[in-house]
Parts: sequence; C-alpha cells; structure tokens
Amino acid sequence: MIFTENLAYIHYGLVLALTCAQLLILYFLSDSANPPRGLGLFTVYFMAALMGWILFTLQPGRDALLDVPAIVALATGYLLYLACAQRAGIPRGRYLLGALCLAACLSAFYFPPSQMFAIQLGGTAGLWAAAGAVSGYRGWTQRNVGDAIIALAGLLVVAGHLEAWLGWQRESDLSRAQADAIGVHSAAYALVVVGFLASVLLEYQRHLTHLATEDPLTRLLNRRGLEDAIYVSLASASRHNLNTSAIKLDIDHFKQVNDSFGHDTGDQLIQQVAQVLQRLCRASDVVARVGGEEFLLVLPNTDRDGARVLAERIRGAIGGDALLVDGQRIAITASLGVTTAEGEVDLDSLAREADRALYQAKREGRNRVATVDNRPQHFRSTGPVTGDGN
Ligand code: GH3
Ligand code: MG
Ligand code: MG
Repeated sequence: MIFTENLAYIHYGLVLALTCAQLLILYFLSDSANPPRGLGLFTVYFMAALMGWILFTLQPGRDALLDVPAIVALATGYLLYLACAQRAGIPRGRYLLGALCLAACLSAFYFPPSQMFAIQLGGTAGLWAAAGAVSGYRGWTQRNVGDAIIALAGLLVVAGHLEAWLGWQRESDLSRAQADAIGVHSAAYALVVVGFLASVLLEYQRHLTHLATEDPLTRLLNRRGLEDAIYVSLASASRHNLNTSAIKLDIDHFKQVNDSFGHDTGDQLIQQVAQVLQRLCRASDVVARVGGEEFLLVLPNTDRDGARVLAERIRGAIGGDALLVDGQRIAITASLGVTTAEGEVDLDSLAREADRALYQAKREGRNRVATVDNRPQHFRSTGPVTGDGN
C-alpha cells in the first residue's frame, strides 16, 4: 500500500533502480572502443544524484543544521550542466556557473531554510536551464531526439520550480512547495536517464549504419552505400529522361605493386587513388570502392562525352606523375570503362556495362579509357599518347 510515510522509500527505490540500471549500461559502454562523448561526467552525475537521494531520504527534516537537499540539488544541477556541456562540446561558461553554484551552496551556512529554499529553486532552475540549453543545441545540430529529451527535462525544472515558488507565495506552505520541487526534480531526473540512453543509442545506430555503408580504408562509400546514395538520382533520371554515366576503374597490375612494395604501401596507393577520384569528381557524383583496387563512379545527369572527359582526366592524374608513398615514388596506371544510359536504368546493369568497358580497356593494353554504350553495344577506346602502359 502507498502511505505518506512510505512514499519517500518508494520514490527512493525507483531512483535507485533507475540509477543502478543506468550505471550498469554506462559500465558496459565505457568498455567499448568508441565510448560516447560525455560518458564520464554523466556517470559522475548519476552517481552523485543517487547519493543525493540517499542523503535526502536519511535527512530527518529541513530543521537540520545544514540544508543538505538544497546543496545536493545545486551540486548535481551543476554536474548535469558539466556533463551536457561536455557532450555538446561547449566548454564556455563552466567556471562562471561553477562559481555561482559554489556561492549558492555556501549560502546554506548563512540563510534560514526558507530563504535557502528560494536560492535552491532559483539556482537549480538556472543550472538545469543551462544544461537544457546546451542539450537542446546538440539535439538540434545532431538531430538527436535523446538530447532534446534532456532539454525538455531542463524546461520542466524551470517551469516546475517557478510553479513551486508561486504556490509557496500564494499559500505560504513551505513543506508543500518543497514536496512539489522534489516531484519535479524526480520527473526531470527520469527524463535525463531516458534522454541520455536514447541519445547514446541513436548515435550507435548511426555509427553502425555508417560502418555498413563506408569502406574503412578509403572512407569512400562501399557498394551498399553507393546504392543508398544514388537511389534518388536514378529515380530522377528515370522521371526526367536524363543521362546517367558510370565509370569503373581498376588499377593495372596491382598484384605486382603489392609484391614489389608490400601490402601496406599498396593500401596507401589505394587511398591516394581514392583522393584523386574525390578531388576530380563533382559534388553530385558518387564515388565508391567496390573491390580491392576497383572503384565505381556514378555520374548523374552526365552524357557519354562528359564522362569520357572525366575518365581521361582521372587516367592522366593517376598515371601522370608517380605517386609518393613513404618517401618513394611509385608509378601506377589505371584502366577505366565508361558507360552511359538514358532515362530509366538500374545500378546493376550500369555497373555491368561499365565493367564490360573496363575489360575492353584491359584487353586493349591497359592505361586507357574504353566506352560501351548501354544500348546498342558498341566499343570505342583511347589509350595513352605514348607507350601502351603494360
Ligand atoms: P590487372 O587489373 O591489370 O589485370 O592486374 P591486377 O594485378 O591489378 O589484377 P587482379 O584483380 O587480379 O589483382 C588485384 C590485386 O589487388 C590482388 C591483390 O593483391 C590486390 N588487392 C586487393 N585488395 C587489396 C587491398 O585492400 N590492399 C592491397 N594492398 N592490395 C589489394
Ligand atoms: Mg581488379
Ligand atoms: Mg587491377
């Protein structure tokens, strides 16, 4: 049964359960290779809040020597601000707020409980407002609803404390106003627990999505990322009957490069080729690494001539000056296959045609660009001005 006498213990039990579950999750998160930002300070905040609830439950009343609940509320409010500010990457204001918080805590030694309660209401509301503001900023910029929930908690404390203060002025019932403030604080605390977990989970989910669509060596998209990125452009090309071109690039005799210079050097060469591709492509083009030393470029709204010009430019940039890796110059060349389709096209067939053109370029002697029209089938190729690149 719920009685007034055991209400505080029920409340304490809920806070204890929430905090313990949260601390357990934080403990496992801290073990991960990429712990979430602000984790340390949030852990300190949750532990301090738990200690505060314990002290609060044990304290017989406000007539004690020192107003412990007021000090705990202010100190944990400041810790929450620090944690939110660290997570949002906003270090400014922490010393000023720290000094104000310290002054408010020290005033517990000088002011009677009623005045101290007013300081607690104002100070805590200010600290939670600051924590809510930085979390709201992070929630908006990172599009993270978890941080927005923490911002909501800040708003709740501000509104709740204002209401508690107005009620106190109206009815002159200090105990009632204190109980109201505690209720608001508990609800806000629960929101912070949920908000922080949601924020971290959303971030992890995005991180995993990123891993699934990104090539770790070059940070280019992988094949799946390419499909996601080009989906809208292909739909638009189909609707407006636009040209879509694709270039497939394969580094020539790369096995020999690995054998001569080692796998690590080979990796660095792949990274440099990726940089060349990103540098030469437009923002609307999509570049992906689709195999060991193979890349696929999809160029929305680009006709065959435009794609060939770009492919030649890429071939010249890769095969022109020898690339510098670990102080040694290594000359490599690449073969490229170009294809263009008009209107509706799917990525698989575009990639297949670009692959056919690439193998045509390889067959004709490498270090060259070959073109195959999507329909009808027709080959053309251009090689280097001098030498055959073999
Ligand atoms: P060509 O394309 O001109 O026909 O000859 P190649 O030697 O480049 O052809 P192939 O596709 O048979 O070999 C590709 C080689 O690329 C095999 C492997 O040693 C190397 N390779 C594949 N992935 C990686 C990678 O991630 N890093 C490094 N360093 N090498 C890789
Ligand atoms: Mg290959
Ligand atoms: Mg190759």
